[in-house]
Amino acid sequence: MLDFVNLEADLGQEERMIRDTAREFVTEHVKPDIGEHFENGTFPKELIPKMGELGFYAPNLEGYGSPNVSETAYGLLMQELEAGDSGLRSMASVQGALVMYPIHAYGSEEQKEEWLPAMGQGDAIGCFGLTEPEHGSNPSAMETHAERDSAEGTSADPREATSASRDGDGYVLNGSKTWITNAPIADVAIVWARDRSAEDDPVRGFLVETDRDGVSTNKIDEKLSLRASITGEIGLNNVHVPEENVLPGVSGMKGPLSCLTQARYGIAWGAVGAARDCFEEARQYAKDRDQFGGPIGRFQLQQRKLAEMGTQITLAQLLAYRLAELKERGEMRPQHVSMSKRNNVRTARDQARIAREMLGGNGITTDYSPMRHMANMETVYTYEGTHDIHTLVLGEEFTGIAAYQ
Ligand code: FAD
Repeated sequence: MLDFVNLEADLGQEERMIRDTAREFVTEHVKPDIGEHFENGTFPKELIPKMGELGFYAPNLEGYGSPNVSETAYGLLMQELEAGDSGLRSMASVQGALVMYPIHAYGSEEQKEEWLPAMGQGDAIGCFGLTEPEHGSNPSAMETHAERDSAEGTSADPREATSASRDGDGYVLNGSKTWITNAPIADVAIVWARDRSAEDDPVRGFLVETDRDGVSTNKIDEKLSLRASITGEIGLNNVHVPEENVLPGVSGMKGPLSCLTQARYGIAWGAVGAARDCFEEARQYAKDRDQFGGPIGRFQLQQRKLAEMGTQITLAQLLAYRLAELKERGEMRPQHVSMSKRNNVRTARDQARIAREMLGGNGITTDYSPMRHMANMETVYTYEGTHDIHTLVLGEEFTGIAAYQ
């Protein structure tokens, strides 16, 4: 496996163990069928509990069943999962960084105890509802809102309550979210909504069980990218949630944005895995495929492609490792994450295309990984802040002038 500057030498025992466990898992359980899942537009759901058993969901958190592994170990895990498929890494990122993280950081003791161990094991599935049909890159313009539910309550169990007999101390949510990874299979959604009953309508996080009255989670089927991942909408039509389902520890856009920083950290690492997988496929193919009386890898044009791929991927690896160090020390800023996500995903997107090219006609099939990774990268380039938006973040960092609000 490509590790040109021997980053392996600096890994601890636990880090190697986690990386090797994830690598074996991907080789054994993901690689054999992932092409078929991609073609069929399905996610290997049977792997969800297995991934929990192996500790793949938010192992970098502390307590509630999470082992608090190093940020490098967590990054290596994301790298290996995405070497399998971006859909697999997305599943783990959403569960860990976008749902378990905010419950861990901002949840009540009861919320933590109810959800963290179950989600860590893969017994419960979460999703993260921020994007709306009319508000993607600018989520602060969201329309989904919560209002105090003033009705007098009669039911002991709020989930059995009807609109006529609700408990009084809750909220009613209305709105819609779209492009939500895992929504159709989720037990719970973190829905970010404006609280219209508070001054200045702050954004708050609501834990919405998907079996509540008024919740719908339709699947989006028409995807040509991230096909081995389940994506859907969340419709909220007068959905009542009790007060205890609000994340008490955060108010404002800091809530969702801090989660995105965590997930983007994993993406910066994951993209390296996808790029590395493309490189390894192309390298092998260059040695195996004979044309004009010998392997195509003897041609300088092919060697140039591998030289460029190897160099770009090594640079992306260095950025990911440095980011882990900064995160471990508590010095990582969102701008560092923007640069890493932006650069490493672009690298993976570009290099996947070159690898695809090196595989000739075979390169356009699901028998080989590069075109699948290439298609996946279109989503990864767009979600968690588009490439353009991270460019603007860096533009502001370097000039002090914001080109967006
Ligand atoms: P838009 O914001 O409409 O952008 C369109 C284009 O305009 C882009 O090229 C963008 O870069 C550009 N643009 C926008 N503003 C500017 C500007 N100021 N300057 C320059 N260019 C600009 N969201 C969730 O909340 N949860 C999820 O789990 C989730 N999963 C996803 C899974 C998939 C498969 C996909 C495709 C998306 C997912 N998303 C999720 C949504 C994703 O985060 C959004 O698609 C993304 O934020 C971009 O929003 P948009 O698609 O509305 O594009």
